[in-house]
Order: sequence, then C-alpha cells, then structure tokens
Amino acid sequence: MAYAAHSERVLSFEEARKVVEEAGHELLRTRRAPTEKVGLLDSARRVLAEEITADRDFPPFNRATRDGFAVRAVDVLGAGEATPVRLRVVGETKAGAPQYGVALKPGEALEIMTGAPAPAGGEYAVAMVEHTSRQGDEILVRRTVRAGENIVAAGSEARKGAVLLGPGHRIDHAAISVAASIGKTQVEVYQRPRIAILSTGDEIVEINATPQVHQIRNSNSYSLAAQVIAAGGEPVQLPIAADNISVLRELVQKGLESDLLLLSGGVSMGKYDLVEQVLEELGAKFLFTGALIQPGKPVVFGLASSAPGQPAHYFFGLPGNPVSTMVTFELFARPVINALCGAPPAPLRLLQARLKLEIKTKTGLTRFLPAFLSGSQVEMVRWQGSGDIAATAQTNCYVVVPPDRETIPAGTMVEVLLRG
Ligand code: AMP
Ligand code: MG
Repeated sequence: MAYAAHSERVLSFEEARKVVEEAGHELLRTRRAPTEKVGLLDSARRVLAEEITADRDFPPFNRATRDGFAVRAVDVLGAGEATPVRLRVVGETKAGAPQYGVALKPGEALEIMTGAPAPAGGEYAVAMVEHTSRQGDEILVRRTVRAGENIVAAGSEARKGAVLLGPGHRIDHAAISVAASIGKTQVEVYQRPRIAILSTGDEIVEINATPQVHQIRNSNSYSLAAQVIAAGGEPVQLPIAADNISVLRELVQKGLESDLLLLSGGVSMGKYDLVEQVLEELGAKFLFTGALIQPGKPVVFGLASSAPGQPAHYFFGLPGNPVSTMVTFELFARPVINALCGAPPAPLRLLQARLKLEIKTKTGLTRFLPAFLSGSQVEMVRWQGSGDIAATAQTNCYVVVPPDRETIPAGTMVEVLLRG
C-alpha cells in the first residue's frame, strides 16, 4: 500500500499551474531576494535588481536613418520622377561628425550618412540617395519627403532620466544593449537561488558508476540541474537517497535548507515510494499531491522546513521517470524558480501549430507529448512512454492534448509547449 496519511489533493493541470503561479507571486511579494553586482556580460540571463535609466536623450541628436541628403521638406514638396527638384549641395556630414551648425537656406541640401546628426529643426528630412541624382554641386530629388522623414528626433525613443528597465526584468541581449548604451559596466542583479536536487531510488547509481543490469544511472539530477541553470537558479546536487526512511529524511532535511527542494522519484503508489511519508513526518503542508497530466501525474508540491523553527521552503516531489521529471519541472517548478530569482512567473511558452500525423489517446488527462516543431508544423515522435529519453532528446517541444480529446486528426491546429 502506498503511503496516504495526508489527504490527497489531485488537481487539474490548470488548477495545479495556478497554485504554483500563486506561490510564485506570493514569494515575490514576501521574500527579500538578496542582490549582488556583476559585470555587464555576466548579467546575461540574470534578473535585474535596479532601475536602468537613460543618462541622456535617446537618440541624443536628430539622427539620420538613411544615406542621402538632408533637405528642407518644403523645398521638395511635389518632387516626382517627372518633376524633379534641383537643390545645391552645400556640404557633407557623417556619423561621428558634430551637428552641422548652419541652417539650410531655401534650395540647399546637405549630403548626409546614416547615423549622422541632421541639422537642428523639425523642418528637415532626408531624401534617400536612391531617390536623387547627383550633378556636380547639385542634386535632383525625384521623390517628395515629409518633414522628419528618415530622421529619428532627439529624445523620441526615451528622454533623459526615463526608466528603461526595472527590477524583475530578465536580462537578455536587448537589455544588455540598453545597459551598455547608458554606460553600465556593472549591473545589480538578484542572487541566484539555491535549488537542491535530490534523486531517490535503490536502483539509482552515480553517472560515473558501471551499473549492474538492474541499476540505472542518475540522469535526473543532471537534467534537473540543467533546467535549474536555464531557469536562473544554482543547482545543489545532493547524494542519491536510497528508498529508506532515515536516509531519505536526512537528505530531505538537508535539501530543505536551500531555497527550493526538487526531489525526483518515490512519489508514485509503490510500497517503496517514501517521499511523501518523509515530508509528512517533517510537518509538510501539501498544496497538491497529483495533477491530471501525463506524463507526471504523481507530482507533489508543498512547503516544509528543514527543522522546527527554520523557515519553510517549497518542495516539489517530481515523478522519477525522466520525461515526467522534465515535463513537471517545466510546468510547475519553473514559475517558482522565476520568483526566487526575483522575476514574475513567466507564462508557459505556448503556440499553435499544424499537426502532421493523427494523435490517438485516452481522455481524462492533459497530455504533454514530446514532438518536433519545424516551422508551423509539429510531428509527434514514436516513444515508449515517460522513460524514453532517447526519443525525447530528438524533440524540441510538447504537443498539448486537452483531457477531453481522444483523436486529433492530421492537419488540426494544436497547442504546442516550447521548452524553456
Ligand atoms: P519512481 O518515480 O521512483 O517510481 O521511478 C520511476 C522510474 O524512473 C523508474 O523506472 C526509475 O528507475 C526511474 N528513475 C527514477 N529516478 C531516476 C533518476 N534519478 N535517473 C534516472 N531514472 C530514474
Ligand atoms: Mg523510485
């Protein structure tokens, strides 16, 4: 008999997802995430803990966005192929040159390159070089341009002092570009949360061991660590726990000292699935004890402390089948880690794609089936179930099958969950 002293709380996928998102928002409200200063490049994929404000106008001057000629827009009103307007070129300016200080007089043009400051004033435009022809000191403009055309006005992207990025923003290359543009060499980010990883099972051995036939190498501690790193956390890999109450208890207590504990295995209905019992004995509060999904139905989520008087930390009991472990991490653990990193729980990355081949399944569970997305078409892979890492490693997403669907014909638009 599986252990079931606490009351079972098996939720639909949506309900379970809501529970973890709420836990994430609660963490963001209540937990003071410690911060640290890191070099600009090291801030990539971290979460910003300060405001990044514009140190000057963006752009700082009226910037030409095309190569061509700065002209007074009124001069080229009505310019066309059949009615070109003749202007006199009075000078040249390029990126890196200070602003041309003299206002253009009627009939004058200034040769200008992309990135150069345009003459000051809203009445100018840049006629693209493609729409002009040069004749000595003169040009013919063969197309009209509106005032301001091909010029980005000073301060139109952001005014000096404007907040460009705020705390909680996950730093990607675009954010790095902004930080670099305002001259930041160091960035204040939230410290990475420590995420303990504890694999359980009498059959599990270290990956550098030579397993006996009945033994399995501990791949989950590594796939989870990789997922933790991708989510912005710092993995803390604990030793493998045998299916033994006292060994398990000691390692679970150790794991609960971290900001979050991820357990793999030992949450199914077998006689030696002891994780819930150990957590219950430690006084855990279970927020759910299962979700109506496949793979990953026995997933457990709750709060417990390592010892009386210690702060309570969240834990996940993830089912041990490797694909179940991966999927349940993605669906449930990621939003909590987002919050521990100081960022709001990120929504699932869902999109629609056309199913290449028919899917037949049973109703009752929301399914996340490993598949390969190519362009707007998605194809299921042949797999042997949630232990099949070989097939899963060839995929790049999961097709989401709602619990009421039995057959989904080829050609149907289906929901696809991208891997984080
Ligand atoms: P469990 O959830 O403990 O019932 O385990 C389900 C299946 O996943 C079993 O076939 C286990 O051998 C396998 N498994 C459990 N933990 C791991 C692990 N850390 N690495 C690889 N496979 C595992
Ligand atoms: Mg087990």
